[in-house]
Amino acid sequence: MNYNKKTVKDVDVAGKKVLLRCDFNVPQDKVTGAITDDKRIRAALPTIQYLLDQGAAVIACSHLGKPEPSFDKWVKKQTEKGKDPASLTKEKWEKSLEALCMEPVAKRLGELLGKPVTLAGDINVVNPDVQAKAAALKPGEIMLLQNTRYNKGETKNDPEFAKAMASLADLYVSDAFGAVHRAHASTAGVADYLPAVSGFLIQKELDFIGGALANPKRPLVAILGGSKVSSKIGVINNLLEIADTIIIGGGMAYTFAKAQGGSVGDSLLESDWLDYCNEMVAKAKDKGVKLLLPVDTVIADRFAPDANTNVVRSGEIPDSWQGLDIGPETIKLYCDAVKDAGTVIWNGPMGVFEFEKFAVGTKAVAEALSETSAITIIGGGDSAAAVQQLGYADKMTHISTGGGASLEFMEGKELPGVACLLDK
Ligand code: ADP
Ligand code: MG
Repeated sequence: MNYNKKTVKDVDVAGKKVLLRCDFNVPQDKVTGAITDDKRIRAALPTIQYLLDQGAAVIACSHLGKPEPSFDKWVKKQTEKGKDPASLTKEKWEKSLEALCMEPVAKRLGELLGKPVTLAGDINVVNPDVQAKAAALKPGEIMLLQNTRYNKGETKNDPEFAKAMASLADLYVSDAFGAVHRAHASTAGVADYLPAVSGFLIQKELDFIGGALANPKRPLVAILGGSKVSSKIGVINNLLEIADTIIIGGGMAYTFAKAQGGSVGDSLLESDWLDYCNEMVAKAKDKGVKLLLPVDTVIADRFAPDANTNVVRSGEIPDSWQGLDIGPETIKLYCDAVKDAGTVIWNGPMGVFEFEKFAVGTKAVAEALSETSAITIIGGGDSAAAVQQLGYADKMTHISTGGGASLEFMEGKELPGVACLLDK
């Protein structure tokens, strides 16, 4: 796949109506709906500001959460989650949609830009009122469409919905790196109907992550951890083709320990991947790639911040105990392994860093990265949060805004939201 894509700087945007796909999928307070972290909105500002300064009229759009635009499907999903079907009224469904309204985003974006951001659209996202508002939008002005996932056509990449969105604008700019691994109407489909280029955020992500993978300063060390084991473990196969060292921590480690005949108690385990783990160990040997697994682990008698803890050898976890962090010997091993790295890509914390007792491994690795001269790239929302929380964010070369996208990038998969942009 070609990652050398045209950007907003390669096209004339003055006087154009620009449909700008952002990643405004921000975390919100469950009760008040207040945005708890506006990092993603801030990350889009350089592109927005550039477009406005150049005299474009910006029609921004994004998804927010996972609203279910079909009442019947919503009832089905809620029932599957164990809700009583009798309690599932149209009113409750509408409330669930309202909770994911873009209003707070429009407000925050307006504050950050210092100019009003009109919110337009409802569950139809592109209705006649929206079309009129988009048509009346002047150079230097910005409006925001309603949650793209309010429309059933969004996740299905329905051409009609893509066409309707495209009809609002002359140019499509994608800056939603967090969503480029999804072929949805607003992330890929619209590019069938409009010239499509990237914003600065996507360009930066492609430069850093693409650069690190295509032509890395060696040795290239990949660190994998976290709890989304089944969605991450598959990346190892491709990483074995490009990395010099792969370090496994977090929840993924226990599937390896089990595969090698160890006992893992109540630790996270993906039983479907046991054979795969053994294959990866064999492939690493074959290729001469160092695949580092924990030698010891911090265990807990329950998943709680004040659990009783102990340190045991990997694969020797007693029944009813669970591994929640890498152990002290492993920390030493892993910190040594990143010391002389040329490039480090890190996706997934080493332990349950949200609990102080199990944050030691993640902290040590973050510190080790902050001390290397290596290019350091952090992918994954929780990894980024951990690095931030521990105070090392400024010391990293690049903190990616897309967890899933950066992972699929590493896996060697084509990113539909990037593939659809014009080549340079
Ligand atoms: P990221 O968002 O960086 O991609 P994930 O979402 O895969 O990472 O995983 C992050 C979560 O993994 C954290 O909330 C952390 O508490 C959890 N985690 C790390 N190690 C373990 C473990 N051994 N057991 C259970 N959860 C873990
Ligand atoms: Mg996560």
